[in-house]
Amino acid sequence: MAESAAQIREGIRAVLETFPHTPRAHVQSFGCQLNFCDGEKYKGILQDLGYELTDIPEEADVILFNACAVRAHAESRVIGRLGALKAIREKNPRLIVGLCGCMAEEEEVRALLRKSYPFVKLVLGAGAMERLPGSLLSVYRGEKRAETLAFAGLPDEALPTVRDSGFQASVPVMYGCNNFCTYCIVPYVRGRERSRKPEAIEQEVRQLIAQGYKEILLLGQNVNSYGRGLDEEINFPALLRRLDAIEGDYFIRFMSSHPKDATPELIDVMLESKHIEYHLHLPVQCGSDRVLQEMNRRYTVEKYLETVDYARAKDPDFGFSSDLIVGFPTETDADFEGTMQVIERVKYDNLYTFIYSPRSGTKAAEMPFVSTQEQIAARMSRLLARQREISEEFNKRFLGKQVRFLAEKRDPETGLLLGKTRHGLVLEAPGTQEDIGRLLDVTVTGVKNWALSGEILRG
Ligand code: SAM
Ligand code: SF4
Repeated sequence: MAESAAQIREGIRAVLETFPHTPRAHVQSFGCQLNFCDGEKYKGILQDLGYELTDIPEEADVILFNACAVRAHAESRVIGRLGALKAIREKNPRLIVGLCGCMAEEEEVRALLRKSYPFVKLVLGAGAMERLPGSLLSVYRGEKRAETLAFAGLPDEALPTVRDSGFQASVPVMYGCNNFCTYCIVPYVRGRERSRKPEAIEQEVRQLIAQGYKEILLLGQNVNSYGRGLDEEINFPALLRRLDAIEGDYFIRFMSSHPKDATPELIDVMLESKHIEYHLHLPVQCGSDRVLQEMNRRYTVEKYLETVDYARAKDPDFGFSSDLIVGFPTETDADFEGTMQVIERVKYDNLYTFIYSPRSGTKAAEMPFVSTQEQIAARMSRLLARQREISEEFNKRFLGKQVRFLAEKRDPETGLLLGKTRHGLVLEAPGTQEDIGRLLDVTVTGVKNWALSGEILRG
């Protein structure tokens, strides 16, 4: 008969009691916000089992790499880190090394681990978080490798969480993706879309606000398809309305929104809200309709711009950011000109730009490149240079205005606080250590290419 969660926990505690020192665990997350959010749950589970969390891998008895599979570069970094563990492993024969997250779902990666990294004893797919204690116990009992792959369900609502911040909290609203953009590995490693129940999300957000959290970041691969498949009739704007009704002083942010599902209703809810930012992360990926079709994005540039225009007609200061892929296999110079036209037209506050990285198993990985890597690199440099100018120019719209911002950190040398405004813009202002984690009113006095600067209104 399978052991219960309580029996597994007792089993691990019994092992940890034999340690001559405090057992410690180190979790390192890579990639997107969702992965970091999963990382907080891995930390919660390990702490609950009796490990003290440490930022120093050399001190740890368990090291978990929670790794991202979206681009090859991210994976190579993790493989490099595994290789660099040799000295730590030799010093601590008890050390258990694990790989979890999206990267652990890839068959190629698992084959590589079997062949070249036999010391990785724990392999845990994205969404298999609650299996961590059972896997750990089997390794302590002598199993050579505990491999668990699972992405079909939702994580247990009761999983403990150790949050990385005391004032910013990530809250997943859904997991997985149904979109199969031809370049993207996510649907293969995270499975199909499934939404958390609205009551569970609302309860979590209420608790966070009661604990004093000032920013709630709602997460999903495409939050706009939130609610599909739930018994209750609910969509993402309705969920936002429900969360915005919670009393308190806080911001709600969310990502990502797929442009094919972004509706005027979504923009209306944002602009009518008390807490939701006036900023939408709306990844366009490319400015050519032909490439968008080959990417299987299911919108045109025209349809995308309708969403932008709708928001800006209601609030000319409304902010947009985007993900952009440069060098999709079939992208020509003419297609890239389309991307340049989109950035001129939208005037993004911020861009997350990626050179296309072929991912095995995806459709685009089979497509031959029509451009050289030099051409692609030149496009990327041009894009970044022009975007810097555009942001600096467009940021001027806030000069002299009063804005609200969340102070996230402070540079002790300059005494400048750094944080984000309700319109999603980075802002710096002189302030004190006590201001960190507070929502503050500021008058914007200057503009830098990537940020606003301002003076806090006190009193
Ligand atoms: N679900 C989100 C969406 O569709 O907007 C994005 C999630 S994905 C983890 C984040 C970004 O990574 C994508 O928007 C895309 O720009 C980029 N990306 C995904 N696959 C990529 C690839 N193979 N090469 C380069 N960038 C990629
Ligand atoms: Fe990947 Fe597209 Fe899904 Fe985003 S919407 S996770 S880019 S497949």
